[in-house]
Amino acid sequence: MSNGEKAESPSYKKLDQKVRKLQRKLARQPKDSRRRNVTRIRIAKLHNQIADTRKDFLHKLSTKIVNENQVIVLEDLNVSGMVKNRKLSRAISRQGWREFRTLCERQSEKFGREFKVISRWEPTSQVCADCGFKWGKIDLSIRSVLCLSCGTEQDRDENAAKNIEQVGMGNRHDFKRTRSGL
Ligand SMILES: [Zn+2]
Repeated sequence: MSNGEKAESPSYKKLDQKVRKLQRKLARQPKDSRRRNVTRIRIAKLHNQIADTRKDFLHKLSTKIVNENQVIVLEDLNVSGMVKNRKLSRAISRQGWREFRTLCERQSEKFGREFKVISRWEPTSQVCADCGFKWGKIDLSIRSVLCLSCGTEQDRDENAAKNIEQVGMGNRHDFKRTRSGL
């Protein structure tokens, strides 16, 4: 978030591993067997457990954010594009980002807050939120950047969040002026 706060998502890794293990088991079990049915029910229960955990987390987080802010700005992330990255795909699918956005939007309406979504094409992770210097694309593994222009050590996520806020509020940096000033 632009105030530097971070929300830690619950980990679905263990539940996910259990699901996958059971799915492999299911594939080996004879059709119409009683045991197969037991496995099937166990998988369904795990899926419910994951969904409930996620719903609870997202609900609490969106309520908190909407409560504490007058304007809520989110970035329209290219979720389907990111999900093509196989390493990220499972983890991202579990996060329920779309669900989170819907929750924030609904809560904002309910409590009379302004809700905005900015374009996914804004270079929110490529620009210093403090001085506007454009350092360009950085690999997802890089978590912080030392800005060559103003010397600020920027946390990747917090910097992007600040940029999202600035774009959403309509006061973005003048990139051209900043660059020519170097
Ligand atoms: Zn800077």
